[in-house]
Amino acid sequence: MTRIKRLRTVFTAEIPETLDDGVLYVSRECRVALHNCACGCGEEVSTPLVATEYKLTMHGDNASLWPSIGNHDFACASHYVIDQGMIVWANKMSRAAIEAGREKDRLLKRPPAPSPIAETMGPTAGGLFGWFKSIFRKFFN
Ligand SMILES: [Zn+2]
Repeated sequence: MTRIKRLRTVFTAEIPETLDDGVLYVSRECRVALHNCACGCGEEVSTPLVATEYKLTMHGDNASLWPSIGNHDFACASHYVIDQGMIVWANKMSRAAIEAGREKDRLLKRPPAPSPIAETMGPTAGGLFGWFKSIFRKFFN
């Protein structure tokens, strides 16, 4: 297997059936980026471009993806960062680190907690203003 050193970015509305090695396919419509695992194992890596997943930054024609690509579910278990189109290999993550990362993901993806009752029942800015206005009217009309 040949390791891929860099990824060329191709913007596409539709993701092709088969991916070429060394190409990062970005679909803004589908909010996803796809590439073949940089270790050369042929596994497809899908990185959703949503706030809780991956952030794509373009530097001219070169893409950076953050956070790192951790293919822990593939046989190769490769782990790397795509930085300005270059593959920067990272250490294989320990099981504990992977689990910690997943736990953090899980927390991030939880729907936001409903606002506390005290906050929703307190006077709103408009309400307070209306109250002042009514007092003002009472005394000065
Ligand atoms: Zn791989």
